[in-house]
Amino acid sequence: MKIISVNERIIKDIIEWKYALAHPVLNLTVLDENGEQNIRIRHRSGEDIGVVFESPTLDDLKVCKNNCIFCFVKQMPPGQRESLYVKDDDFRLSLIYGSFVTLTNLSEEDFVRIETEKISPIYVSVHTTNPELRVSMMRNPHSATITAQIKRLIAAGIGVHAQLVLVPGVNDGPELLRSLTDLTSLYPGVESVAVVPVGLTGYREGLPELVGFNKDSARTVLDTCYSFSKKMRRRHGQSVVYAADELYILAQADFPGASHYDEFPQLENGVGLSRLFIDSFYQALRSVKKPTKKPTTWITGESSAFILKKLQHELNARSITWVDVLVANNQLFGGRVTVTGLLGGNDIIRTLKSANIAPGTRVLIPDITLRENRFLDNVSFTELQAEFPALSILSTPTTGESLVLNTLVERNEP
Ligand code: SF4
Repeated sequence: MKIISVNERIIKDIIEWKYALAHPVLNLTVLDENGEQNIRIRHRSGEDIGVVFESPTLDDLKVCKNNCIFCFVKQMPPGQRESLYVKDDDFRLSLIYGSFVTLTNLSEEDFVRIETEKISPIYVSVHTTNPELRVSMMRNPHSATITAQIKRLIAAGIGVHAQLVLVPGVNDGPELLRSLTDLTSLYPGVESVAVVPVGLTGYREGLPELVGFNKDSARTVLDTCYSFSKKMRRRHGQSVVYAADELYILAQADFPGASHYDEFPQLENGVGLSRLFIDSFYQALRSVKKPTKKPTTWITGESSAFILKKLQHELNARSITWVDVLVANNQLFGGRVTVTGLLGGNDIIRTLKSANIAPGTRVLIPDITLRENRFLDNVSFTELQAEFPALSILSTPTTGESLVLNTLVERNEP
């Protein structure tokens, strides 16, 4: 069934639907197999009446009008599922899901809507506050006014979470200092700033030549971030500036303690996930009284391998159980991507085949690699399991607690 209008107003997304629910009487015009119909519903004002939408937007998704030099969508390997090639840049998804948007395609009407509906917070890909540099990084002449746009949102009472995707030699160094100075000066309107290293795949044909971060350049960025977060903590009691976990991994640095991340405002952006993972691992480990001793193998991508090897040692060294860590190399993205979440099913199959694992071993695959039970390369989890009938292959929620429980607690396995 399709909802066409509510109280004679066309509904474009679930934000408008939620607003409509404030009315105690809803006059719906809907379209179903019997054609157009009118339905009148009386309900308690604000009460959810249980309508489930297939998609959060009922009109066309707003797509991005940029051509960023570091665009990850453009670096996708060919032949993947279509949704991976969509360059969405829809402020409504930012408000509903926390997706990052650039504000470069926002019309005056969109701005007024955000201001009047006061939907907050919004997640903004800033990258740099230097107007000329932003235009050249995003290759869009309409991208220069970001600071004014953010100020306008803040003036309307909208909270902003910002991210800076850093490209070495482009917007790090003095440009990073400038961006962090500008953004932190807008606190508390700018609630958090995440500093994220650029992701490069092996599929960059026709794209500008870029380099990724290494140990030294990652350490320099961490120093800069730390000097800002230290200053912000002293002044406001919040770090505000947070470096992505990947930068700590590249710099071979320990993750800061949980208090550094405050309320973990950019967890969905991979900021603080590792700290939470490690802490929840140890907490769960203390709660398991009678661990089982079934041989277990943990699958991980290259960048998280050192975390899992440290946790593996906790179990093996005290002979709690025997765990192996198997590091899968990502060939799906052409060999330059190391994060676990972007492993393909074929990457894991190839790794398992070459590992000579004893029959009966439990193999845990983090569910961050799966979307609707399929890997990014469309291999289904069931297909992967079928390749190894002698192993007990399970997917596990990507938390330290689940890793402990699925390793140490007896369970019925297929
Ligand atoms: S905003 Fe830039 S990085 Fe994001 S999809 Fe558009 S071109 Fe790609």
